[in-house]
Amino acid sequence: ISPVFYSITQWKERELKAIDIKEAKKQRAKSKVKGFSRMGLSLRLCIASVIVLTQLVHGALCWGKDGHYTVCKIAEGYFEEETVAAVKKLLPESAKGELASVCSWPDEIKIFSEWDWTSALHYVNTPDYRCNYEYCRDCHDSHKHKNVCVTGAIFNYTKQLMTASENLQTLVHYNLTEALMFLSHYMGDIHQPLHTGFPGDLGGNTIILNWYHNQTNLHRVWDNMIIDSALKTYYNSSLPLMIQALQAKLTNGWSNKVPSWESCKHKQTACPNQYASESIKLACKYAYRNATPGTTLLDEYFLSRLPVLEKRLAQGGIRLAATLNRIFSEKPKLTRA
Ligand SMILES: [Zn+2]
Repeated sequence: ISPVFYSITQWKERELKAIDIKEAKKQRAKSKVKGFSRMGLSLRLCIASVIVLTQLVHGALCWGKDGHYTVCKIAEGYFEEETVAAVKKLLPESAKGELASVCSWPDEIKIFSEWDWTSALHYVNTPDYRCNYEYCRDCHDSHKHKNVCVTGAIFNYTKQLMTASENLQTLVHYNLTEALMFLSHYMGDIHQPLHTGFPGDLGGNTIILNWYHNQTNLHRVWDNMIIDSALKTYYNSSLPLMIQALQAKLTNGWSNKVPSWESCKHKQTACPNQYASESIKLACKYAYRNATPGTTLLDEYFLSRLPVLEKRLAQGGIRLAATLNRIFSEKPKLTRA
């Protein structure tokens, strides 16, 4: 069932800044990212205290910075020419032309009250112990507002970028720089299995356990700890080396799978429902299994889950690129005929 929520009114008014796509470059200078980097010290200190609180909130943490950077870096390698140009045009100046550098932006802003409404866009819950996902049943926030979840967000921001891409001459009432950064981030989140999790344990956030000698929670294990351990164990603590290894797998072992990862059924531009279905299945089969409160997760868990996580990072990258390519490089160009 395709969600019908593209009407502007259903989304926060603050998104409705009139931005002509041709004006995007000018607007970039005023973008939220720049505003964020110029933030005063008092605000930064405020973040530090808020972070302690938000550790307790579901979705407060997402793939860590490394996970999001990896997904976006892999995606960059699969951009078609028109996508490269469109992305460059939309990126804020602070990104210095690199999409991967701003892919954690939605995590950085959601702690501010102004952006509070975006917190529910980082994940989706299925009913407790149900290892399947359904858009109409599951995509809502805790107040039952429909379409407010990670899959809804991916549809929404894809639609915003698509609308702008198809109507180059008209005024577009979206902030496309933000749309690009949100879409790139949420495409990563949706591939983290526990971002499609159970509400009873807040996607693993309330499952307190040990990762080797460190006390943490299951959600964090999948956001950060497995990646951290992999970096230390196999990649000399170098993220670029890990990314290179994944890129090599994509051109060797996984190369015959890439076309099926890229494709969306029914010629859709984005197909996040499929990714959420995969994620909850992986959450049940790998993430939640043998990870009850108080457990100590060791090599057995790490070594069996790492291949699952690596594949999700790679799929996230491939699918982000495929979606952006469909938005920017495959448009019918009717409006320009
Ligand atoms: Zn997130």
